[in-house]
Amino acid sequence: MNSADPHCIFCKIVAGQIPAKKVHEDDAIVAFHDINPWAPVHILLVPKQHIVSMADVRPEHQDVLGRMMVLVPQLMRGLGVTDGFRQVINTGRDGGQEVMHLHMHAFGGPRPWKRG
Ligand code: AMP
Ligand code: ZN
Repeated sequence: MNSADPHCIFCKIVAGQIPAKKVHEDDAIVAFHDINPWAPVHILLVPKQHIVSMADVRPEHQDVLGRMMVLVPQLMRGLGVTDGFRQVINTGRDGGQEVMHLHMHAFGGPRPWKRG
């Protein structure tokens, strides 16, 4: 559950095996533009570690999740978002999660948005 999954698209982005428009990378987190944006700015933040979803989160993930949360306002400011943004984490099938590597969406920019 927690090591890199060779079939996981976000693990491949973390490993640089498939391209992504990265906006941030540090020891634990990568952030990049969503390939199918719902809003003028739509980025995804992913832990480098392959955590499947929020349903798999354990106390040891507290640090990386806190860092993802704190990074969002900083990244949104850097991307020119000045009038608010929205953060979403989808979990599991009923939660609408399509990519089974935990990720946080951050949406911003002037409305109307395509979705959300
Ligand atoms: P979710 O429904 O929360 O699992 O959202 C998955 C998101 O990943 C969707 O918004 C997709 O557009 C996005 N996505 C899927 N593949 C890629 C990719 N290769 N690069 C960037 N975003 C992607
Ligand atoms: Zn993964």
